[in-house]
Amino acid sequence: MTNAVNASMAGSSGQIVVAGAGYAGLHVTLRLAAKLRKHSETTLTLIDRHDYHQALTELPRVAGGTRAADAVRIPLQDLLTDRVRFVQSDINGFDLPGRRLLTGAGPIGWTRLVLALGSRPNDFAIPGLAERALSLYSASDAERVWAAVSEALTAAAAATDPERQRRLATVVVGGGGATGVELAGELAEILPKVASGHGLAPDRPTVVLVEAGPTILAGSSPQLIGKAAKTLADLGVAVRINATIAAATEEGFRLTDGQLVEGGVFVWAGGVKAPELVADSDLPTGHNGRVKVDRYLRVLDRQDIYVAGDLASVTDPRTGHVLPPLAQVALEEGETVARNLDAELKGRPLEAFTFHDKGFVVSVGTRRGVADIAGVTTGGHVAHLLKDAIEWEYRQSVKHLRGWDPIPG
Ligand SMILES: Cc1cc2nc3c(=O)[nH]c(=O)nc-3n(C[C@H](O)[C@H](O)[C@H](O)COP(=O)(O)OP(=O)(O)OC[C@H]3O[C@@H](n4cnc5c(N)ncnc54)[C@H](O)[C@@H]3O)c2cc1C
Repeated sequence: MTNAVNASMAGSSGQIVVAGAGYAGLHVTLRLAAKLRKHSETTLTLIDRHDYHQALTELPRVAGGTRAADAVRIPLQDLLTDRVRFVQSDINGFDLPGRRLLTGAGPIGWTRLVLALGSRPNDFAIPGLAERALSLYSASDAERVWAAVSEALTAAAAATDPERQRRLATVVVGGGGATGVELAGELAEILPKVASGHGLAPDRPTVVLVEAGPTILAGSSPQLIGKAAKTLADLGVAVRINATIAAATEEGFRLTDGQLVEGGVFVWAGGVKAPELVADSDLPTGHNGRVKVDRYLRVLDRQDIYVAGDLASVTDPRTGHVLPPLAQVALEEGETVARNLDAELKGRPLEAFTFHDKGFVVSVGTRRGVADIAGVTTGGHVAHLLKDAIEWEYRQSVKHLRGWDPIPG
């Protein structure tokens, strides 16, 4: 759907600044770089604290030791053309009235800003969780998980007390969403082999998946949930539903019913929220601190700031629910933002954002998975191959865009 909207950038010089080189921000940048070849008066700046883009969907493999952390860090210099000015810096705040980002490299002014800063793990203020549990939200996080698991298995192998050995060789994953399921499956498949290398019995390591709600993969079809639960059971994962963590202590996760879930390694994958930087700003925020936007993905009452990806709070009119924090959504939003910035430069009407759901795919272990595509549920090797294909296709598309594929129309 299109609407006539005042396009105040038309024909003018300006600074387009993209904050965040994740799925949404990188997509906006690559798409716009192509268009701006004809707009030498407009600068395009990308800012990120890292000089690489992280393929976050591949982190469970890094955490399970089957992929190197560097393989999921894609250097931005390989992706960006000379048309983009890249600034590696932390963004520390906003000067909204002055239209400036406050960064470690000094203030950076914008004519149009794209906020694509992603999200951070949400510990829901559960006591001890932030200190006691590892998170899985960057390649470095994933490396830490794998290092902790290896260390715990080494300690387990050296333990003479069977109870202590059992406890050290147990990995507890909090949160039964897609990330928790992928991590639990990956570890359950890998750990028996790793245990043998440490001189432990292959059946000694255990993976426990703790979920507060009545089901894993909440919101998915019952068929998909059933297939995922069966695959996890085949892999030996102990799934505990209706198990709400009240506190994380030295001993383990204490549940609200008083039970203690013990382990040698604890990982929290129970949810995300917007970065504090945004929560502390005057931007209008909704659930989990995500920024409220209009149908063109601009901040409410701020025509100069677009938001895309996990940070944007976008309600799907078909379901009435806010779209989930997914790479697929981030890429589609990035596409709309790039088109709208291009439309502004050309004085054309903006496009309202519409989400086209391509389906849901989750890997469960290193060889199997589950998928819901166009109302059809698939499991097993096919679903895992599908996940591999999506990740491969994403990497290909990024390289393709670097080749300056123009925005049609
Ligand atoms: C382990 C895991 C597995 C996942 N698996 C899937 C999956 O299979 N399918 C799927 O669709 N989605 C998956 N997701 C979700 C998906 O990764 C996110 O929805 C997606 O990354 C959101 O894109 P984004 O551009 O909004 O944010 P991000 O990709 O997180 O990018 C944000 C960028 O902003 C930068 N940044 C943030 N704050 C600052 C600051 N203050 N200063 C400077 N730079 C900053 C970061 O360095 C980062 O580069 C997964 C997420 C995780 C963590």
